[in-house]
Amino acid sequence: MYDDQNIFARILKQDIPCKKVSENEYYLAFEDLYPKAPIHILIIPKGRYSDATDFHQNAANEEIIGYYKGINDVVDQLKLSDGYRLITNCGYHGGQEVPHYHIHLLAGKKLHHSIV
Ligand code: 5GP
Repeated sequence: MYDDQNIFARILKQDIPCKKVSENEYYLAFEDLYPKAPIHILIIPKGRYSDATDFHQNAANEEIIGYYKGINDVVDQLKLSDGYRLITNCGYHGGQEVPHYHIHLLAGKKLHHSIV
């Protein structure tokens, strides 16, 4: 069940502000409020999907393509030729805090190899 009051839903509705990086019809990318790297961007679909499973099961193909192509828009825009990391947290064990599907894009320095 999707929570319409979650913080990213409210950012999409422009109830609360964000520092936008880019968007298209299918995604919005904005700066994480509590960055964990010099560059920390959140990329969210514009549809109402609570997590990765929900998005991959229920989004239309065009939404999925438009969303994932958006990641490369951000990479191009920020000129991340030295690389970057993409992370998604899904559900309780994944440590997801905001129940609107999102990918974290981290960059701007050499990140540690640890994935946990
Ligand atoms: P999660 O743990 O769900 O994968 O990640 C949620 C992310 O949202 C965290 O990195 C957190 O810093 C970020 N965040 C939480 N509240 C806000 C907010 O109001 N605005 C922005 N831009 N980011 C937020």
